[in-house]
Amino acid sequence: MHVLILARELDELLELRAVADQIGALEVETLVPKAMTNGEDLASLGLRRAYFLEGFDDISPDGLKKIVIDLVGKVEPSLVLGPSKKVFRELFARVAHNLASPCLTDCTSLEFSGGRLVVERPFLGGGYVERLAVKKLPAFLTIQMTGRRPKIRERNGPEKVELSKPSSEDFSLRRVSVERVERGGADLAKARIVVSVGRGFKRREDLKLAEELAQLLGADLACSRPLASDLGWMPEEKHVGLSGKWISPQLYIAIGISGQVQHMVGVRNSRIIVAVNNDTSAPIHREADYSVPLDLYQFIPALITVLREKGVRAT
Ligand SMILES: Cc1cc2nc3c(=O)[nH]c(=O)nc-3n(C[C@H](O)[C@H](O)[C@H](O)COP(=O)(O)OP(=O)(O)OC[C@H]3O[C@@H](n4cnc5c(N)ncnc54)[C@H](O)[C@@H]3O)c2cc1C
Repeated sequence: MHVLILARELDELLELRAVADQIGALEVETLVPKAMTNGEDLASLGLRRAYFLEGFDDISPDGLKKIVIDLVGKVEPSLVLGPSKKVFRELFARVAHNLASPCLTDCTSLEFSGGRLVVERPFLGGGYVERLAVKKLPAFLTIQMTGRRPKIRERNGPEKVELSKPSSEDFSLRRVSVERVERGGADLAKARIVVSVGRGFKRREDLKLAEELAQLLGADLACSRPLASDLGWMPEEKHVGLSGKWISPQLYIAIGISGQVQHMVGVRNSRIIVAVNNDTSAPIHREADYSVPLDLYQFIPALITVLREKGVRAT
């Protein structure tokens, strides 16, 4: 199988290379930003060719679509893989539509079964998993990032090919301005301990309680979707679940989160789940390893006090 990987970050490329390994890809090429082509890691991934672009992030959606359509025409891959992130979900849908090819987003696993590529992904809001056989190639798949790593090969780097940017004049979308989003803190996908907040918090300023607990535990802070998307109390990249980050920390402490399936699908791979929720019938208690059926406004300060008494200090 001939695979083309699209990635904007090294972690994405490493993970998608691992997925290509899993399905026994014989030939793998990639399209990445120019900055990534000088890294040591690229040399050890057994890639045949690395196409690169200067200013990858600044190319308009139409421009990127054209580049990918041209590249797919040239490379003729059977499969095009990208990370399940908004930009790739949108790009793949547009390119696949243009080429009348299948496009599947948020795939969690890929395998060959009965001579066909079979893909799994969440279905009906994450309550079920659907298995789909890919009937037509090339197929465009975005993959959920879960931290897979590829095998390292002999260092014999890929041939590097610079692609030129298309002129923006013919495009229906024109970039008028760019506003960078401030990204707060570390990447949640790599966190060992995560303290996560939900709508059980009554006011934005009450999140200080969770921040204090997170500092004491050396944890990263995350949230349920409403806190980021509806209330705007937390940055978008901190929301976990079906439409946010999929994480797998050693310890996930959910505070004031009900545990709807769309939330749980993104945190189920946590090693230990602790739920602090004063409603004993909240679904999260059924999935938690440790349930704390108490009011968060009483429990969290008490926990902080105990941790302090035990000599735990903020890191
Ligand atoms: C297509 C789709 C995708 C979605 N994607 C996501 C996603 O990626 N991530 C996500 O999180 N959601 C997602 N959702 C939304 C999801 O269905 C839930 O609405 C959301 O997770 C609920 O957030 P919550 O648990 O913070 O709030 P609620 O459901 O309102 O729960 C708040 C909880 O806090 C508890 N509580 C209240 N006061 C206290 C207190 N004083 N002490 C302790 N506990 C208290 C309550 O008992 C309640 O269980 C998605 C929905 C759809 C339709």
